[in-house]
Amino acid sequence: MRTPAAPDSARSSRIQVLVVEDDDTIGRHLETGLRGNGYAPAWSRTGAGALAEAARSPYDVLLLDLGLPDMDGLDVARTLRARFPDLLIVILTARTDDIDVIAGLDAGADDYLVKPFSLTVLLARLRAHLRRRAFDSPPQEPIRLGDLVIDITARRCTLHDQEVELRPKEFELLAVLARRAGEAVSRETLMAEVWDENWFGSTKTLDVTMAGLRRRLTDAEQRPYGVAQPYRVPRITTLRGHGYRLEPT
Ligand code: CA
Repeated sequence: MRTPAAPDSARSSRIQVLVVEDDDTIGRHLETGLRGNGYAPAWSRTGAGALAEAARSPYDVLLLDLGLPDMDGLDVARTLRARFPDLLIVILTARTDDIDVIAGLDAGADDYLVKPFSLTVLLARLRAHLRRRAFDSPPQEPIRLGDLVIDITARRCTLHDQEVELRPKEFELLAVLARRAGEAVSRETLMAEVWDENWFGSTKTLDVTMAGLRRRLTDAEQRPYGVAQPYRVPRITTLRGHGYRLEPT
C-alpha cells in the first residue's frame, strides 16, 4: 500500500479509491463525485470483483456496500483488512441497526456511513481520516515557505531557526494551508481537516483561530533575527465567500 495522504496537488499520484457498490445510481454518483474531487476511483459491482481488483492494484481507500449480490460485504471487509492493514475501509450501509455497524467495525472497517448520505459528508469524512493518517504517518520533509519552516512531524514552526509559538489548532491550520500553498482552500475543508467531526458546527472558531495565527506570524515577523530584513513570511489571503489561500513567497 502507498502511504495515504490528504488530497494535494503536490502529490504525483492521486488517492486510489475502490468503490464496491451494486447499485448503479449510487456507484456512478460516487465514481463521478470522487473523480471530480481529485481522487482516482475504480468501481466494482461485486465482492469477488472487488477482491480481484484489490489484488491487482494498490488502493488507499475502500468504500464498501454491505449488501452485495454475490457475497456479504463483511466478508470482503475481513479479507481485505487481513491483507492490507493500512487500507482505509468505510462501510456504506442501508442497515441502520447498531448491531450491523458493530459487526462492520469488528470486521475491520474504520468508519461507516448510513445511506442515504451526501457526497459532501463522505468527502469530509475521507479528508478527516486521511488527514489524521498524514499527521500520524512517517516523517515528512519540513515545508519551507520563504523564511518560514513548517515541520509537521516535529510540530514546529520556525522563522530563521527561532520558534514561532502556535497553539495546536493554529499549527494544524497553518499545516493544512502550507501543504496546499498557492491553492484556494475552502472553509469547509479547513473545518473538516482541522476540527474533524465538529465541522458541522459553527465556523466562528475558524475565524478566531485564523486571527490568532495571523497575529502570531506578524509578531514573529517583527522580531529581530540578526539577518537582513525584510523577512519573507507567507501571507494568508482571505477569499470572500470561499476560504483562504496561503501565498507562497
Ligand atoms: Ca447493495
